[in-house]
Amino acid sequence: MKNSYQQNNLNKKSECSLQISEIQETYAYSSDRQILVSELWAVRGHCDELRAKKIAKRSGLPLKWFDATPSLNGEKGVKKLQAERGILLLRNRTSSFIEQFQHPIGRCSKFYKLTAYNNCNFWCEYCYLYLTFRTMPISTHFVNYDKMFKEIINFDKAKIPDVLRVLNLGELCDPLAVEDVTGFAEELIPFIAEETQKTRLLFLTKSDCIDSLLDLNHKNKSIMSFSVNTNMVYQQLEHRTASPEERLKAARRLRQAGYEIRLRIDPVILYSTWRKDYIDLVEKVFSYVKPERITIGEYRPSKGLASHISSRFPESPLLKINAGLISEGTKLRYPDEHRLAMFKVIVDTIKKHDRKVKVALCKEDIKIWKTLGMTINGLQCNCLG
Ligand code: SF4
Repeated sequence: MKNSYQQNNLNKKSECSLQISEIQETYAYSSDRQILVSELWAVRGHCDELRAKKIAKRSGLPLKWFDATPSLNGEKGVKKLQAERGILLLRNRTSSFIEQFQHPIGRCSKFYKLTAYNNCNFWCEYCYLYLTFRTMPISTHFVNYDKMFKEIINFDKAKIPDVLRVLNLGELCDPLAVEDVTGFAEELIPFIAEETQKTRLLFLTKSDCIDSLLDLNHKNKSIMSFSVNTNMVYQQLEHRTASPEERLKAARRLRQAGYEIRLRIDPVILYSTWRKDYIDLVEKVFSYVKPERITIGEYRPSKGLASHISSRFPESPLLKINAGLISEGTKLRYPDEHRLAMFKVIVDTIKKHDRKVKVALCKEDIKIWKTLGMTINGLQCNCLG
């Protein structure tokens, strides 16, 4: 007997339009938001009870209490995804909410991240968090906000260069994926506006769950950054997210509400119609919104990610793509000539629309920047102030 995932992948081998509709049906997209999270879980003695009950009441979701964090059933494919990313575990964070990011080979600034979630309820096939949270893969939201607020106040008072005063919420999660469930950003954004002097927030998302943010008092201290990609990448690899067009519509509405908008085009993936598709994507971006910055990144999986992809998406096209990549440090990457070709097409199309928009490459080798005639001095990329 074949499960729905296996059946889906048999269907994938038939014509393209059928393939796309079958995938959408199997993974259920975020327009039906309640499907992202079917239950809330909490562990007695390790979770702010009042906050957990408030989230359960707001979302209308059942809240199950456990004596210890439940272990997973070892299933594969869709069942594994549902077990890990179909629920939301609520618990207190014992380590710091605010930490400094450090790139292993120094290809990125040491920006600060604020970790309010571990993991995500979307199911992107390339998600590096399958590897990051391999020992604790249940999507988690940290509910002891009082501790987080105190850390933010201390961060605001600390002597930190202005360029690093942005707290990045998108390093270990999608911070808006389940905003309708938790109401987290709805509480944090006005807190930052009222209680801090110099701190800003950076939300990086593939969600269009922004209705509750439009009328907030944000004082332009929260930056909304949308990760966008071609329709092909979305349809094949970004399951349960809002579509790129829905994200751009959300970006336009937030821009109208006074938020700063940034975009990421990441991961850029090479496939037969990539050139036309990425040009179309950039055209579409500018038909909806004028971003302050655009940061571009190629598909660059960690070497250990493939087994985590295959246990969830055994037929993933990424497994074949990985075979054509080259090794660079702890990552696999496209050979230089492919990276240069992809970046050049995207950067040229952006510049055709807006010569002043700040364009950066994410965690890219200096020689690639130079060959493209781009300057890394005074870096103005997604995660910095
Ligand atoms: S939206 Fe980001 S964090 Fe969520 S599954 Fe996709 S890549 Fe992972």
